[in-house]
Amino acid sequence: MNQQIIVNIREQILQAINIVIVTHTNPDGDAVGSSLGFYLFLLKFNPNAKIKVIVPNDFPSFLKWMPANKGILIYQGNEKAAILEIEEADLCFCLDFNSLKRTDKLSSFLEVSKAYKILIDHHPQPDTNFDIMISNIASSSTSELIYDVINALSGIQIIDKEIASCLYAGIMTDTGSFSYSCRRPETYLIVAELIRKGIDSELIHRRIYDTYSENRMRLLGFCLSERMKVLNDLHTAYIFLTQDDLNRFNHQNGDTEGVVNYALSIEGIVLAVLFTEKEDKIRISMRSKGEFSVNDFARSHFQGGGHKNASGGDSFISMKDTLIYFESILKNYQDELIRVNQNEVSVTV
Ligand code: 5GP
Ligand code: MN
Repeated sequence: MNQQIIVNIREQILQAINIVIVTHTNPDGDAVGSSLGFYLFLLKFNPNAKIKVIVPNDFPSFLKWMPANKGILIYQGNEKAAILEIEEADLCFCLDFNSLKRTDKLSSFLEVSKAYKILIDHHPQPDTNFDIMISNIASSSTSELIYDVINALSGIQIIDKEIASCLYAGIMTDTGSFSYSCRRPETYLIVAELIRKGIDSELIHRRIYDTYSENRMRLLGFCLSERMKVLNDLHTAYIFLTQDDLNRFNHQNGDTEGVVNYALSIEGIVLAVLFTEKEDKIRISMRSKGEFSVNDFARSHFQGGGHKNASGGDSFISMKDTLIYFESILKNYQDELIRVNQNEVSVTV
Protein backbone atom coordinates (compact mmCIF):
# COMPACT_ATOMS: atom_id res chain seq x y z
CA MET A 1 0.00 0.00 0.00
CA ASN A 2 1.38 3.39 -1.05
CA GLN A 3 2.44 5.26 2.11
CA GLN A 4 1.69 8.74 0.77
CA ILE A 5 -1.86 7.67 -0.09
CA ILE A 6 -2.32 6.30 3.42
CA VAL A 7 -1.00 9.56 4.93
CA ASN A 8 -3.53 11.48 2.83
CA ILE A 9 -6.43 9.22 3.76
CA ARG A 10 -5.55 9.46 7.46
CA GLU A 11 -5.48 13.25 7.22
CA GLN A 12 -8.82 13.33 5.42
CA ILE A 13 -10.50 11.08 7.99
CA LEU A 14 -9.14 12.98 10.99
CA GLN A 15 -10.19 16.39 9.68
CA ALA A 16 -13.63 15.29 8.39
CA ILE A 17 -16.83 16.37 10.09
CA ASN A 18 -19.37 14.46 7.99
CA ILE A 19 -18.30 11.19 6.39
CA VAL A 20 -20.46 9.05 4.13
CA ILE A 21 -19.75 5.54 2.92
CA VAL A 22 -21.59 4.55 -0.25
CA THR A 23 -21.73 1.28 -2.14
CA HIS A 24 -23.33 -0.16 -5.27
CA THR A 25 -26.97 -0.82 -6.09
CA ASN A 26 -28.33 -4.26 -5.12
CA PRO A 27 -25.72 -4.45 -2.34
CA ASP A 28 -24.20 -7.90 -1.85
CA GLY A 29 -22.24 -9.43 1.02
CA ASP A 30 -19.01 -7.65 0.11
CA ALA A 31 -20.74 -4.29 -0.38
CA VAL A 32 -22.49 -4.45 3.00
CA GLY A 33 -19.61 -6.21 4.80
CA SER A 34 -16.92 -3.79 3.63
CA SER A 35 -19.13 -0.75 4.30
CA LEU A 36 -20.11 -1.81 7.83
CA GLY A 37 -16.61 -3.04 8.68
CA PHE A 38 -15.12 0.27 7.60
CA TYR A 39 -17.93 2.21 9.31
CA LEU A 40 -17.24 0.50 12.65
CA PHE A 41 -13.53 1.20 12.21
CA LEU A 42 -14.13 4.89 11.43
CA LEU A 43 -16.28 5.26 14.55
CA LYS A 44 -13.22 4.27 16.58
CA PHE A 45 -10.62 6.04 14.45
CA ASN A 46 -12.36 9.42 14.45
CA PRO A 47 -15.01 9.46 17.20
CA ASN A 48 -15.69 13.15 16.51
CA ALA A 49 -16.98 12.66 12.97
CA LYS A 50 -20.57 11.95 11.99
CA ILE A 51 -20.54 8.84 9.82
CA LYS A 52 -23.30 7.35 7.68
CA VAL A 53 -23.49 4.30 5.41
CA ILE A 54 -25.80 4.87 2.44
CA VAL A 55 -26.94 2.19 -0.01
CA PRO A 56 -28.98 2.88 -3.18
CA ASN A 57 -31.62 0.20 -2.43
CA ASP A 58 -32.47 -2.47 0.08
CA PHE A 59 -30.21 -5.48 0.66
CA PRO A 60 -31.15 -9.15 1.27
CA SER A 61 -32.41 -10.24 4.69
CA PHE A 62 -29.60 -12.82 4.96
CA LEU A 63 -27.21 -9.87 5.46
CA LYS A 64 -29.31 -8.22 8.15
CA TRP A 65 -27.54 -9.88 11.06
CA MET A 66 -24.39 -7.80 10.58
CA PRO A 67 -23.35 -5.46 13.40
CA ALA A 68 -24.78 -1.94 12.86
CA ASN A 69 -26.80 -2.96 9.78
CA LYS A 70 -29.90 -1.20 11.17
CA GLY A 71 -28.10 2.13 10.91
CA ILE A 72 -27.69 1.85 7.13
CA LEU A 73 -29.60 4.54 5.26
CA ILE A 74 -31.41 3.08 2.24
CA TYR A 75 -31.86 5.77 -0.43
CA GLN A 76 -34.94 4.15 -1.97
CA GLY A 77 -37.75 5.21 0.33
CA ASN A 78 -35.57 7.71 2.26
CA GLU A 79 -34.53 9.91 -0.65
CA LYS A 80 -34.54 13.26 1.15
CA ALA A 81 -32.50 12.07 4.13
CA ALA A 82 -29.93 10.36 1.89
CA ILE A 83 -29.54 13.39 -0.40
CA LEU A 84 -29.04 15.63 2.63
CA GLU A 85 -26.32 13.35 4.02
CA ILE A 86 -24.50 13.44 0.67
CA GLU A 87 -24.84 17.22 0.38
CA GLU A 88 -23.43 17.73 3.88
CA ALA A 89 -20.57 15.24 3.52
CA ASP A 90 -17.02 16.51 3.30
CA LEU A 91 -15.57 13.03 2.83
CA CYS A 92 -17.05 10.16 0.84
CA PHE A 93 -15.78 6.58 0.70
CA CYS A 94 -16.89 4.72 -2.42
CA LEU A 95 -16.69 1.00 -1.73
CA ASP A 96 -17.00 -2.06 -3.96
CA PHE A 97 -17.75 -0.34 -7.26
CA ASN A 98 -15.65 1.08 -10.08
CA SER A 99 -17.94 3.78 -11.46
CA LEU A 100 -20.38 6.20 -9.82
CA LYS A 101 -22.97 4.88 -12.29
CA ARG A 102 -23.08 1.71 -10.19
CA THR A 103 -24.75 3.66 -7.39
CA ASP A 104 -27.75 4.14 -9.68
CA LYS A 105 -29.88 7.12 -8.58
CA LEU A 106 -27.28 8.22 -6.01
CA SER A 107 -24.76 8.94 -8.76
CA SER A 108 -26.15 12.33 -9.82
CA PHE A 109 -25.87 13.57 -6.21
CA LEU A 110 -22.40 12.11 -5.75
CA GLU A 111 -21.19 13.72 -8.97
CA VAL A 112 -22.02 17.24 -7.76
CA SER A 113 -21.10 16.61 -4.13
CA LYS A 114 -18.33 18.74 -2.64
CA ALA A 115 -17.02 15.74 -0.68
CA TYR A 116 -13.48 14.48 -1.15
CA LYS A 117 -13.98 11.08 -2.79
CA ILE A 118 -11.93 8.01 -1.97
CA LEU A 119 -12.45 4.81 -3.96
CA ILE A 120 -11.61 1.44 -2.43
CA ASP A 121 -12.47 -1.34 -4.85
CA HIS A 122 -11.39 -4.52 -6.65
CA HIS A 123 -13.28 -4.31 -9.97
CA PRO A 124 -11.34 -3.92 -13.24
CA GLN A 125 -11.35 -0.74 -15.34
CA PRO A 126 -12.26 1.83 -12.67
CA ASP A 127 -13.31 5.36 -13.63
CA THR A 128 -10.82 8.04 -12.63
CA ASN A 129 -13.09 10.74 -11.19
CA PHE A 130 -12.06 10.10 -7.57
CA ASP A 131 -9.60 12.14 -5.48
CA ILE A 132 -7.84 9.03 -4.22
CA MET A 133 -8.12 5.53 -5.65
CA ILE A 134 -7.18 2.26 -4.01
CA SER A 135 -8.04 -0.19 -6.76
CA ASN A 136 -6.62 -3.70 -6.67
CA ILE A 137 -8.18 -6.30 -8.92
CA ALA A 138 -5.99 -9.03 -7.44
CA SER A 139 -7.77 -8.71 -4.10
CA SER A 140 -10.54 -11.24 -3.42
CA SER A 141 -12.94 -8.56 -2.27
CA THR A 142 -13.30 -4.99 -1.13
CA SER A 143 -13.52 -6.36 2.41
CA GLU A 144 -10.01 -7.78 2.06
CA LEU A 145 -8.81 -4.38 0.81
CA ILE A 146 -10.51 -2.67 3.76
CA TYR A 147 -8.52 -4.94 6.08
CA ASP A 148 -5.32 -3.79 4.33
CA VAL A 149 -6.35 -0.14 4.57
CA ILE A 150 -7.21 -0.42 8.28
CA ASN A 151 -3.90 -2.19 8.87
CA ALA A 152 -2.00 0.57 7.06
CA LEU A 153 -3.90 3.38 8.81
CA SER A 154 -3.70 2.16 12.37
CA GLY A 155 -2.63 -1.48 12.70
CA ILE A 156 -4.92 -4.47 13.18
CA GLN A 157 -5.22 -4.05 16.95
CA ILE A 158 -8.17 -1.75 16.29
CA ILE A 159 -10.09 -4.56 14.55
CA ASP A 160 -12.59 -6.03 17.01
CA LYS A 161 -14.94 -9.00 16.67
CA GLU A 162 -17.70 -6.87 15.08
CA ILE A 163 -15.43 -5.36 12.42
CA ALA A 164 -13.93 -8.80 11.78
CA SER A 165 -17.38 -10.41 11.33
CA CYS A 166 -18.34 -7.88 8.65
CA LEU A 167 -15.05 -8.25 6.77
CA TYR A 168 -15.16 -12.04 6.98
CA ALA A 169 -18.71 -12.06 5.57
CA GLY A 170 -17.54 -9.90 2.65
CA ILE A 171 -14.54 -12.10 1.84
CA MET A 172 -16.56 -15.30 2.21
CA THR A 173 -19.41 -14.19 -0.07
CA ASP A 174 -17.21 -12.61 -2.75
CA THR A 175 -15.15 -15.82 -3.05
CA GLY A 176 -18.21 -18.12 -3.09
CA SER A 177 -17.10 -19.58 0.25
CA PHE A 178 -13.47 -19.71 -0.89
CA SER A 179 -14.09 -21.32 -4.26
CA TYR A 180 -13.03 -18.51 -6.65
CA SER A 181 -10.96 -15.28 -6.58
CA CYS A 182 -9.07 -16.85 -3.70
CA ARG A 183 -5.77 -18.11 -5.05
CA ARG A 184 -3.61 -15.66 -3.08
CA PRO A 185 -2.12 -16.78 0.25
CA GLU A 186 -2.69 -13.24 1.60
CA THR A 187 -6.45 -13.84 1.63
CA TYR A 188 -6.06 -16.79 4.00
CA LEU A 189 -3.59 -14.97 6.25
CA ILE A 190 -6.16 -12.18 6.62
CA VAL A 191 -8.95 -14.69 7.28
CA ALA A 192 -6.77 -16.32 9.96
CA GLU A 193 -6.34 -12.93 11.66
CA LEU A 194 -10.11 -12.29 11.48
CA ILE A 195 -10.79 -15.67 13.10
CA ARG A 196 -8.26 -14.79 15.84
CA LYS A 197 -10.50 -11.80 16.63
CA GLY A 198 -13.08 -14.27 17.95
CA ILE A 199 -15.59 -14.40 15.08
CA ASP A 200 -17.71 -17.52 14.59
CA SER A 201 -17.01 -18.28 10.93
CA GLU A 202 -19.36 -21.26 10.88
CA LEU A 203 -22.26 -19.25 12.28
CA ILE A 204 -21.62 -16.50 9.73
CA HIS A 205 -21.80 -19.12 6.97
CA ARG A 206 -25.10 -20.47 8.32
CA ARG A 207 -26.59 -16.98 8.70
CA ILE A 208 -25.89 -16.27 5.03
CA TYR A 209 -26.43 -19.62 3.33
CA ASP A 210 -28.75 -21.65 5.59
CA THR A 211 -31.56 -19.15 6.03
CA TYR A 212 -33.67 -19.84 2.92
CA SER A 213 -37.42 -19.40 3.20
CA GLU A 214 -39.42 -22.37 1.92
CA ASN A 215 -40.50 -20.23 -1.05
CA ARG A 216 -36.91 -19.36 -1.93
CA MET A 217 -35.87 -23.03 -1.90
CA ARG A 218 -38.86 -24.01 -4.07
CA LEU A 219 -38.07 -21.16 -6.47
CA LEU A 220 -34.56 -22.60 -6.81
CA GLY A 221 -36.03 -26.02 -7.60
CA PHE A 222 -38.35 -24.44 -10.17
CA CYS A 223 -35.46 -22.57 -11.80
CA LEU A 224 -33.46 -25.75 -12.23
CA SER A 225 -36.29 -28.03 -13.35
CA GLU A 226 -38.49 -25.69 -15.41
CA ARG A 227 -36.50 -22.63 -16.43
CA MET A 228 -33.00 -23.81 -17.24
CA LYS A 229 -31.86 -24.35 -20.82
CA VAL A 230 -28.59 -26.18 -21.41
CA LEU A 231 -26.80 -25.54 -24.71
CA ASN A 232 -24.19 -28.29 -24.59
CA ASP A 233 -22.56 -27.39 -27.92
CA LEU A 234 -21.99 -23.86 -26.66
CA HIS A 235 -20.94 -24.92 -23.13
CA THR A 236 -23.62 -22.57 -21.88
CA ALA A 237 -26.58 -22.92 -19.51
CA TYR A 238 -29.09 -20.18 -18.82
CA ILE A 239 -32.08 -19.68 -16.56
CA PHE A 240 -34.88 -17.17 -17.09
CA LEU A 241 -37.49 -15.96 -14.64
CA THR A 242 -40.55 -13.91 -15.52
CA GLN A 243 -42.46 -11.60 -13.18
CA ASP A 244 -45.20 -14.26 -12.99
CA ASP A 245 -42.65 -16.86 -11.88
CA LEU A 246 -41.35 -14.53 -9.18
CA ASN A 247 -44.86 -13.71 -7.96
CA ARG A 248 -45.74 -17.40 -7.79
CA PHE A 249 -42.98 -17.92 -5.24
CA ASN A 250 -43.62 -14.63 -3.40
CA HIS A 251 -40.16 -13.43 -4.42
CA GLN A 252 -38.24 -11.38 -1.86
CA ASN A 253 -35.11 -9.29 -2.33
CA GLY A 254 -32.10 -11.64 -2.56
CA ASP A 255 -34.07 -14.81 -3.34
CA THR A 256 -32.35 -15.34 -6.70
CA GLU A 257 -28.87 -14.68 -5.30
CA GLY A 258 -26.66 -17.68 -6.09
CA VAL A 259 -29.10 -19.30 -8.55
CA VAL A 260 -26.80 -18.67 -11.53
CA ASN A 261 -23.99 -20.58 -9.84
CA TYR A 262 -25.98 -23.83 -10.03
CA ALA A 263 -26.04 -23.58 -13.81
CA LEU A 264 -22.26 -23.09 -13.78
CA SER A 265 -21.84 -26.18 -11.59
CA ILE A 266 -22.79 -28.46 -14.48
CA GLU A 267 -19.77 -30.28 -15.91
CA GLY A 268 -18.75 -28.84 -19.27
CA ILE A 269 -20.55 -25.53 -18.72
CA VAL A 270 -18.26 -22.51 -19.16
CA LEU A 271 -20.88 -19.75 -19.29
CA ALA A 272 -23.96 -19.50 -17.05
CA VAL A 273 -26.53 -16.72 -17.21
CA LEU A 274 -29.62 -15.78 -15.22
CA PHE A 275 -32.22 -13.50 -16.81
CA THR A 276 -34.69 -11.97 -14.37
CA GLU A 277 -37.65 -9.88 -15.47
CA LYS A 278 -37.89 -6.61 -13.52
CA GLU A 279 -40.53 -3.88 -13.85
CA ASP A 280 -38.61 -1.88 -16.43
CA LYS A 281 -35.88 -4.19 -17.73
CA ILE A 282 -34.36 -7.65 -17.79
CA ARG A 283 -31.60 -7.97 -15.21
CA ILE A 284 -28.78 -10.25 -16.29
CA SER A 285 -26.33 -12.06 -14.05
CA MET A 286 -23.39 -13.85 -15.63
CA ARG A 287 -20.79 -16.35 -14.41
CA SER A 288 -17.98 -18.17 -16.19
CA LYS A 289 -15.16 -20.63 -15.67
CA GLY A 290 -11.51 -20.06 -16.52
CA GLU A 291 -10.47 -17.55 -19.15
CA PHE A 292 -13.90 -16.72 -20.56
CA SER A 293 -14.52 -13.09 -19.58
CA VAL A 294 -18.11 -12.28 -18.68
CA ASN A 295 -16.89 -8.76 -17.86
CA ASP A 296 -16.11 -8.27 -21.57
CA PHE A 297 -19.29 -10.09 -22.59
CA ALA A 298 -21.49 -7.90 -20.34
CA ARG A 299 -19.74 -4.71 -21.50
CA SER A 300 -20.05 -5.64 -25.19
CA HIS A 301 -23.70 -6.70 -25.23
CA PHE A 302 -25.60 -5.71 -22.08
CA GLN A 303 -24.33 -2.30 -20.92
CA GLY A 304 -22.81 -3.91 -17.86
CA GLY A 305 -19.55 -5.22 -16.48
CA GLY A 306 -18.01 -6.72 -13.37
CA HIS A 307 -15.21 -9.24 -12.94
CA LYS A 308 -13.77 -11.73 -15.40
CA ASN A 309 -15.84 -14.60 -13.97
CA ALA A 310 -18.84 -12.72 -12.48
CA SER A 311 -20.64 -9.84 -14.09
CA GLY A 312 -24.03 -8.25 -14.59
CA GLY A 313 -25.91 -6.20 -17.14
CA ASP A 314 -29.35 -5.16 -18.38
CA SER A 315 -31.55 -5.61 -21.42
CA PHE A 316 -34.34 -3.22 -22.33
CA ILE A 317 -36.29 -5.45 -24.71
CA SER A 318 -38.74 -8.23 -23.79
CA MET A 319 -37.61 -11.48 -22.17
CA LYS A 320 -38.41 -13.41 -25.35
CA ASP A 321 -36.38 -11.04 -27.53
CA THR A 322 -33.55 -10.89 -25.00
CA LEU A 323 -33.19 -14.68 -25.09
CA ILE A 324 -33.30 -14.74 -28.91
CA TYR A 325 -30.64 -12.02 -29.02
CA PHE A 326 -28.50 -13.83 -26.43
CA GLU A 327 -28.61 -17.14 -28.32
CA SER A 328 -27.78 -15.37 -31.59
CA ILE A 329 -24.65 -13.62 -30.26
CA LEU A 330 -23.49 -16.77 -28.46
CA LYS A 331 -22.66 -18.40 -31.78
CA ASN A 332 -19.81 -15.89 -32.20
CA TYR A 333 -18.28 -17.20 -28.98
CA GLN A 334 -18.55 -20.92 -29.74
CA ASP A 335 -14.86 -21.41 -30.60
CA GLU A 336 -13.75 -19.56 -27.47
CA LEU A 337 -16.19 -21.48 -25.25
CA ILE A 338 -14.97 -24.81 -26.65
CA ARG A 339 -11.33 -23.76 -26.15
CA VAL A 340 -11.87 -22.67 -22.55
CA ASN A 341 -13.70 -25.91 -21.78
CA GLN A 342 -10.88 -27.99 -23.27
CA ASN A 343 -8.39 -26.09 -21.15
CA GLU A 344 -10.50 -26.70 -18.02
CA VAL A 345 -10.48 -30.42 -18.69
CA SER A 346 -6.86 -30.87 -19.78
CA VAL A 347 -4.92 -28.64 -17.42
CA THR A 348 -3.20 -30.50 -14.58
CA VAL A 349 -3.97 -29.50 -11.01
P1 5GP B 1 -24.30 -10.17 -9.67
O1 5GP B 1 -24.54 -11.12 -10.79
O2 5GP B 1 -23.99 -10.91 -8.41
O3 5GP B 1 -25.36 -9.14 -9.52
O4 5GP B 1 -22.99 -9.34 -10.03
C1 5GP B 1 -21.77 -9.98 -10.26
C2 5GP B 1 -20.65 -8.96 -10.31
O5 5GP B 1 -20.82 -8.08 -11.41
C3 5GP B 1 -20.54 -8.07 -9.10
O6 5GP B 1 -19.17 -7.93 -8.80
C4 5GP B 1 -21.12 -6.75 -9.50
O7 5GP B 1 -20.49 -5.71 -8.84
C5 5GP B 1 -20.89 -6.73 -11.00
N1 5GP B 1 -22.03 -6.13 -11.70
C6 5GP B 1 -23.32 -6.55 -11.64
N2 5GP B 1 -24.10 -5.80 -12.42
C7 5GP B 1 -23.31 -4.88 -13.01
C8 5GP B 1 -23.56 -3.81 -13.93
O8 5GP B 1 -24.68 -3.56 -14.37
N3 5GP B 1 -22.48 -3.06 -14.30
C9 5GP B 1 -21.23 -3.32 -13.83
N4 5GP B 1 -20.24 -2.54 -14.26
N5 5GP B 1 -20.97 -4.29 -12.96
C10 5GP B 1 -21.98 -5.09 -12.55
MN1 MN C 1 -16.87 -7.12 -4.20
